[in-house]
Amino acid sequence: MSIFFDHNSTTALNPEVLKVMIEIYQKPYNNSAVHQLGREAQSIIEHAKNVIKKALNAENYEVIFTSGATESCNQVIFANNQNKLFYSTIEHACIDSCKPQNKTITYFPCDHHGIISLENLEKILTQNITPNQTFNNDFIAFAMLANNETGAIQPAQKIGKIIHQKSGLYFCDIVQAVGKIKVDLEDINADFVCLSAHKIHGPQGVGALLVRKNIDLKPLIFGGKHQQGKRAGTLNIAGIAGFAKAVEIATNNLEKYGKIAELRDFLESQLKKIANDHLKIFCNDQPRLANTSLIALANCDSQTQIINFDLSGIYLSAGSTCSSGTISQSRILQAMNCPQQFINSAIRISLGLTTTKTDIEKFISIWDNFYQQKFLKK
Ligand code: PLP
Repeated sequence: MSIFFDHNSTTALNPEVLKVMIEIYQKPYNNSAVHQLGREAQSIIEHAKNVIKKALNAENYEVIFTSGATESCNQVIFANNQNKLFYSTIEHACIDSCKPQNKTITYFPCDHHGIISLENLEKILTQNITPNQTFNNDFIAFAMLANNETGAIQPAQKIGKIIHQKSGLYFCDIVQAVGKIKVDLEDINADFVCLSAHKIHGPQGVGALLVRKNIDLKPLIFGGKHQQGKRAGTLNIAGIAGFAKAVEIATNNLEKYGKIAELRDFLESQLKKIANDHLKIFCNDQPRLANTSLIALANCDSQTQIINFDLSGIYLSAGSTCSSGTISQSRILQAMNCPQQFINSAIRISLGLTTTKTDIEKFISIWDNFYQQKFLKK
């Protein structure tokens, strides 16, 4: 039996979600239609919006359905008018790699624990914003709630406060946090948030952009008048209904989810016993997602480790960006000023609700063998 330790990358569809989707797929739903089926489709969409708003305490937000968090981020970055953008150095590639030619991008750093530095954020905003500006909402700053590589949970509320004090807009990527920790948008007080269904056992290719009411949002995709002209294109009714079901299930399971930390901590303590100083565990002294462990075995490249686990039927990711099967150095670990011998060696183990102690023990045993071969039998 294979073991899936890559839940931060994607998750399998929950059978209850699939059931909801199959039922909807059997009808020719289009919520723009004026006939009965159109009205039914519209009520499915309204229900989905309400579920999402309730789960995230987002009554003061408008929900725009998109193809996923990548599109949501691209919309705000490329379509909105603000031409001053500030990115934290630990943002996901769907923000970090957006470099609109007509806008300036300024970065604000994290500390070596992987936590965004409030002091530096304030300093950098002050240095780069015209004093006594007359315009509000003149810039947008992007800072995520939980990092996909390290699992480190960021002080989003404090970040938002600083951004607002400088009269900017706050975009918070909550993709990795939803379903893993309680997310309350009134507490975070972001102006935009993005989320993604496939990280929480929902379907791939569906997500949302939530925008605080009265904040202007320009479309990225033009066409019909769907979603009040803010995102054209026939809505993915089944996907959206599945997404809402996934949000509902995930937010009801938060307590259970928190318990995954016991397995994760057991895993880390056993690996540390085996490898001691050869092993670095990232962000284990910080607030962290319960399911995420980012570890590095000194000078032992990530790819070799991943292939080794793959051969044993254990699927995980490098700590670094991995797209289209290629691995590049982790921007996040670089941003944390991590020593080079660990940057190329990081692997991310991201557990899920179905992970068992037996899975963890199997991982430890394979890792132990690998470690012995690498370090002790040279
Ligand atoms: N933001 C974070 C933190 C992520 O982990 C991901 C997915 O890897 C995304 C955004 C992009 O999400 P999507 O796959 O829905 O485009």
